[in-house]
Amino acid sequence: MSFFRPNIDSLQGYVAGQQPQQGKWIKLNTNENPYPPSPAVMQAIGGITGERLTRYPDPVATAFRQQAASVLGVPPSWILCGNGSDDILTVVTRALVAEGGRLRAPYPSYLLYETLAGIQGAQIATVPYERDWSLSDAFVSDCEKVQLAVLANPNSPSGTILSRARIVELAEKLPCPLLVDEAYADFSDENCIRLVAENERIMVSRSLSKSYALAGMRFGFLVAQESIIERLLCVKDSYNCDTLSIAGATAAIADQAWRSENCKKIVATRSRMTEALGDLGFDIPPSQANFLWCTHPTVPLRPIYERLREERILVRYMEYADWGDGLRISVGSDEQVDACLMMLRMMV
Ligand SMILES: *Cc1c(COP(=O)(O)O)cnc(C)c1O
Repeated sequence: MSFFRPNIDSLQGYVAGQQPQQGKWIKLNTNENPYPPSPAVMQAIGGITGERLTRYPDPVATAFRQQAASVLGVPPSWILCGNGSDDILTVVTRALVAEGGRLRAPYPSYLLYETLAGIQGAQIATVPYERDWSLSDAFVSDCEKVQLAVLANPNSPSGTILSRARIVELAEKLPCPLLVDEAYADFSDENCIRLVAENERIMVSRSLSKSYALAGMRFGFLVAQESIIERLLCVKDSYNCDTLSIAGATAAIADQAWRSENCKKIVATRSRMTEALGDLGFDIPPSQANFLWCTHPTVPLRPIYERLREERILVRYMEYADWGDGLRISVGSDEQVDACLMMLRMMV
């Protein structure tokens, strides 16, 4: 017999990409930034005294809210900080999705959404992307008991984006709030931050893990209208962000010069990588993120993933039921990408 709730017994835990803790790897499997973060981050963390650490952190991360507000052009009270944007997704799901309810998400997309619905005892109600990674009105149909819709934009694993105009259309037809997961928006030409002011049902989450090179620090945030943030503040853990990460994240978001320089480098490498992989015969949808979704019309992909791993190059091999498989390769530094391309040229 089990003491767990039945939905926990049957839960598929989220399976993260491999994170080797030892040895030298070229890591292109979990979309981390290949470059070190802004030096201002380490300086800010180093400036925290032992005495500060004896005290609990600021429960709402006021310093970060103020800094992010001025960067994004929204009031500080419209920002909720979290222990990574995964924490934000957890808080929003917990607050909105009831047992027996449904969470709408496209497919294939970020697999955590299904786990979060499962923890609630709710169902994930997925709608498949079209073959060109557009999303039909099926996303807003059959919405009985749908209490939250989540959309990664840019999407993972495809790297593709839905236009802001399309997001507005979808949000207006949904009977529930729409969370736009913008973990990769800094690498994209377009984002949805300004929609939050126009539509109280639209929320936008951001992460410092990718575009600020801080995956090891754990910091993310949500932008939504004040009435929503106020409710969510009651749901989050009291001290969900620690003093060190608040200091680091505040310094990171203040250094927009670093972010835009870093982003330019990644986007340049992304173009070069897209072209080189295209020359090898891979099909790659246009990426607005820091990774590429690669399929191949003739060459099997799993053996490629395995061969690369033998060479200590990690990429993500993904297999989606009713959809097919692919390699998701992060945009690394130029040297990392060149090493990966050199191996691939010998394999395909
Ligand atoms: C990486 C990622 C996240 C989580 O980011 P963290 O801030 O590290 O928790 C959320 N959504 C998507 C689509 C991601 O790829």
